[in-house]
Amino acid sequence: MEEAVYKVIEIVGSSKTSVEDAVQNAINKTGKTVRNIRWFEVAGTRGYIEDGRIAYWQVHVKIGFHVDQQMQEENRKETGSENKSNLDEPVKYRCLVCGYVYDPSKGDPTAGIKEGTSFEDLPDDWRCPECGVGKDQFERM
Ligand code: FE
Repeated sequence: MEEAVYKVIEIVGSSKTSVEDAVQNAINKTGKTVRNIRWFEVAGTRGYIEDGRIAYWQVHVKIGFHVDQQMQEENRKETGSENKSNLDEPVKYRCLVCGYVYDPSKGDPTAGIKEGTSFEDLPDDWRCPECGVGKDQFERM
């Protein structure tokens, strides 16, 4: 099972009409530079008053976005549109201890792992062919 990892940024949105509008403004602004926004949390609300009336709302918003997808978007930008299909290819994993790279397109012949086997599908007792550590010592590339 893949566990989602989110990065959180904080931003203050403002609106003359409503709190909801202030949140939406904050999300719109953030969406111009950050992709894969998944949720928001209102951390604080305040308003400014002019002549006895609400002049505008300011909402302090925490915005969460999915880190892995963000990285994929950045990879897509770096590799260019002609390589878009690379996103569909299985992901490589690197051993944190020795640097060995598990490449799903090659598998691991030393352990009888067929080519095309994704890292996730490796048996739980699979070990790094170079240094012998377990799957938990690997990072996604
Ligand atoms: Fe290793």
